Amino acid sequence: MPADSELTKVGELNPTARILLGPGPSHVPHRVLRALASPTLGHLDPEYLAIMNETRSLLKAVFRTQNELTLAVSGTGSAGMEACVCNLIEPGDEMIVGVNGVFGTRMKDVAERCGATVHAIERPWGEIIEPEAVADSLVKHPNTKVVGLVHAETSTGAHQPIEDISTIVHESGALLLLDAVTSLGGHTLDIDGWQIDACYSGTQKCLSCPPGLAPVTFSDRAAAALDARKTRVQSWYLDMTMVRQYWGEQRVYHHTAPINMTYALRESLRIVLEEGLEPRINRHALNHRALRAGLEALGLNYIPRHSLTTLNAVHIPDGVDDARVRSRLLNEYNIEIGGGLGPFKGKAWRIGLMGASSTKGNVTYVLAALESLLTDEGVSLPAGQALSAANAMYSTN
Ligand SMILES: *Cc1c(COP(=O)(O)O)cnc(C)c1O
Repeated sequence: MPADSELTKVGELNPTARILLGPGPSHVPHRVLRALASPTLGHLDPEYLAIMNETRSLLKAVFRTQNELTLAVSGTGSAGMEACVCNLIEPGDEMIVGVNGVFGTRMKDVAERCGATVHAIERPWGEIIEPEAVADSLVKHPNTKVVGLVHAETSTGAHQPIEDISTIVHESGALLLLDAVTSLGGHTLDIDGWQIDACYSGTQKCLSCPPGLAPVTFSDRAAAALDARKTRVQSWYLDMTMVRQYWGEQRVYHHTAPINMTYALRESLRIVLEEGLEPRINRHALNHRALRAGLEALGLNYIPRHSLTTLNAVHIPDGVDDARVRSRLLNEYNIEIGGGLGPFKGKAWRIGLMGASSTKGNVTYVLAALESLLTDEGVSLPAGQALSAANAMYSTN
């Protein structure tokens, strides 16, 4: 029987439980996986509507915002990006985008597809966008409606400062849009305090939930811009004027929410708030400092001057085979790390310490594994130095 032979060829699903230290996804705690496996409700069942409301409240707390228009877009982080851009931009609008890595490049692409005239502020990969550059661009382009920046550029490890830029953007009357996919739940992010007008994130980075939803939040100013649109939103699926009626009181059917993913997100947000935002951010910072000390002891130097704590991007030393080291890490140590993208392809490693993956145990294990693999690659290293450097960081904190 053909059906039987397919069944023989395709065995029962049994993926390996990897140690996820790449640019996302990060380790998903059992509590979140159990939530995902709970019975599927109807998407208009009163029980599910209550779960949606609870998820919104938790999202507001984690985003640190009172914004009414806060919800989870159906789709991954890129859907969040597209939702923010396409709801704020109408054809002919002007938008400034900071382009210093993959995700700024992607935001520019999305904005152009929405019909925006994009003024890119380009910087070499690994660098940040300075406040003066944003100020200059706003002087040159006074009709700018939206300024879009990436808070945590996962392709380069650069940590973009936001507060000063926010003041500059608001003085010009423009809206500030922030990509917080790799910062929400890992770095300080204060939507209301920093007056961010629109922000999107993803579930699989520092929230430690499987990929599939994109938390978004829009300030009252951004919601007013949405209400003032003269044209319909380019995307039917991501049109917040409709999606908000499903998440809001009206409960108007738009599309079926990914029910079980909402359960998972709800549980992952509860875990974030149980730990507390401040202690969680401090945990990410401490594990980053220890990893950094260890990596530098191995001769692995950081690419960005302003590094994220959630993503560590380092140069691969000359003579070391990128693919061989990463495949040995995966096959012999069960550890996933990321390779370089774009100009860093074959030249950089990206080690993520996001959410539940940011632990002392993981820092210790990956440093030990890298020391051994780099030694095999012919790098001469004094044994144990990386772990001593990391331990020194842990004992002084
Ligand atoms: C991962 C990531 C995205 C895209 O998210 P997907 O879930 O892959 O769609 C966007 N921006 C940044 C900064 C990211 O790290």
